[in-house]
Amino acid sequence: MLIVPGTEMTPEEFRDFGHAVVDWIADYRAGVEELPVRGPVRPGGLREQLPPRLPEEGESPESMLADLDRVIVPALTHWQHPSFFGYFPANASLASVLGDLLSSGLGVQGMSWTTSPAATELEQYLLDGLARELGLPAEFTFPGGGGGVIQDSASSAVLVALLTALHRGSAGAWRSSGLTGGEVVYGSAETHSSLAKAVRVAGLGHDGLRSVSVDPDTLAMRPAALAEAVAEDMAAGRRPVLVCATVGTTGTGAVDPLSEIAAICREHGIWLHVDAAWAGVAALCPELRAPFAGVAEADSFCTNAHKWLMTAFDCGLYWTRHPDVLVDALSILPEYLRDPAGVGGAVVDYRDWQIPLGRRFRALKLWAVLRWFGLRGLREHLRLHVALAEELAELVRGDERFALVTEPSFALVCLRARTGAGAAADDRRTERLLASINESGRAFLSHTAVAGRPVIRVAIGGVTTERGHVLALWRLLGEAFEAAAAG
Ligand SMILES: *Cc1c(COP(=O)(O)O)cnc(C)c1O
Repeated sequence: MLIVPGTEMTPEEFRDFGHAVVDWIADYRAGVEELPVRGPVRPGGLREQLPPRLPEEGESPESMLADLDRVIVPALTHWQHPSFFGYFPANASLASVLGDLLSSGLGVQGMSWTTSPAATELEQYLLDGLARELGLPAEFTFPGGGGGVIQDSASSAVLVALLTALHRGSAGAWRSSGLTGGEVVYGSAETHSSLAKAVRVAGLGHDGLRSVSVDPDTLAMRPAALAEAVAEDMAAGRRPVLVCATVGTTGTGAVDPLSEIAAICREHGIWLHVDAAWAGVAALCPELRAPFAGVAEADSFCTNAHKWLMTAFDCGLYWTRHPDVLVDALSILPEYLRDPAGVGGAVVDYRDWQIPLGRRFRALKLWAVLRWFGLRGLREHLRLHVALAEELAELVRGDERFALVTEPSFALVCLRARTGAGAAADDRRTERLLASINESGRAFLSHTAVAGRPVIRVAIGGVTTERGHVLALWRLLGEAFEAAAAG
C-alpha cells in the first residue's frame, strides 16, 4: 500500500495501521507482567530522548510505535500490571479499550441531545440501569424524577454537587450575585482532597471547609461532632450548604455513617453528597451493600467506573435526585445552542449537568464493559478481590512481623511493619520496606498516614490480578521486612 503521511489517513491506511496498533496493545498487555511495575526513571529522562523540535513533516505510524517501545514504555508506571496495588486501581479492561476506540471512531460531540441523540439516551439508559443494580433509590433514576450522568471524574462530581447545593440554598441569589459569605461545607480529615478543591473553585475559600473529627479507631466521621459544628456555624450566622460523606475513604477505606449524617442534613436542609468514588461499585454485590445503608437519603451519589469497574479513565458516575435544581444552577443558553427539543424540555441536555460544554460519548465504553462481562462477570471480579483482601488480612494477623492498621475495607488492606522495638522503629521499617518493594519493580504499593504514622496500602482490584499475585506480594513483604532489618 502506498502510504502518504501528512494528509488525513485514508480508511484503508487506518485499517492497516489500526490492526498494527491493536496488535501492539495486545502484545503490551500479554507481556506487561514481565515488566517491572515501575522501572527506574529519573526526572527529565524522557525528554532527553525526544528530538528538540516537533516534526515538520508527517511520519509513518510505524516510527511512532517504535518510539512507544523505545521511549515511552520504559518510563511508564504499569497500572494494568497484575502486581500494581498502589492508590486505587485504574482498570482499563480491554473491552473498555475497544469501547473507547469506537467512541473516538464515531467522533461525536454529545453536549446536547440534538447534537447526537444516541450519546445522551444510551447514557441515560446505562445510568438508570446501574442505579437499579447498585441498589440506589428510584428517585435517582430518570423515571423516578432524578437522573444520572457520566462526569469526567469524582472531583467534577463533587464540584457540581456543591454548585447545585449553593443554588438550592440561596433561593436564586447565588446565581445572580454569587456567595454571600458564611457558606460552609463539611467533610472530615479523611475526605478526599477533591472536596477542598471544589470548595476553593466555588469561591468559598479554605475557611469555608470544616473538618469534622473522626472516630480514632474506624476513622469514620463522628455524627455528634458534625451536629455540633453545624449548630455552632448556624449560631454564628453562617450557612451550612453541603456535607460530603464518604463510603471507602482514599486513605484507609473508612465508611462514614450515612444514616446518622443524613438525619442531620435533613434537619437543617443541608445537601448530602456521598462520595464512593472507589468503593461504590461494590454495591453491585448485595452482600457488600451494608456500608451504603442510608444512601437513599442522599441528595447525590458518585462512584467511578474508572477505578474498580473495569472501565478505562474517564468515567465518573454521578446521580442526583434534583436534576431540575442542577440544570437551573448550571444552564446558560446562548442562541447558537438553542434547539426545539432542548427548549421544550422534552430531552436531557447533558451540557447543563457538568462544567465543560463539550462531552465525549463515554457511555460507549461503559456499555462495552457491561456487554462483555455482564453484571455477573463484574460481580465475580469484585468478589474475588474482596476475598483476596480478606485472605491477605488473615496472613497479616497471623504474622508477628506485621500488623493491620485498620480492618480491611472492601479490597483495601492497610498494614505496617512490627519490629518489637517501638513505634519509631516500626515506622522506619515500614517506610524502608515500602521503598524497597517499589524499587524492586516486582510490585507497586502506595502509602498513607494514620495518626501521623506511615501505613502501607494494598489496594487489590486489577483486571488481571489473581490470588497468585497477592500471595507473591505477601512473600515479597516478608523478604523486604528481613532485608530492611539487615540494611
Ligand atoms: C479517587 C477518589 C476521588 C477522586 O477521583 P477522580 O475521579 O480522580 O476525581 C474522590 N474521592 C475518593 C473517595 C476517591 O477515592
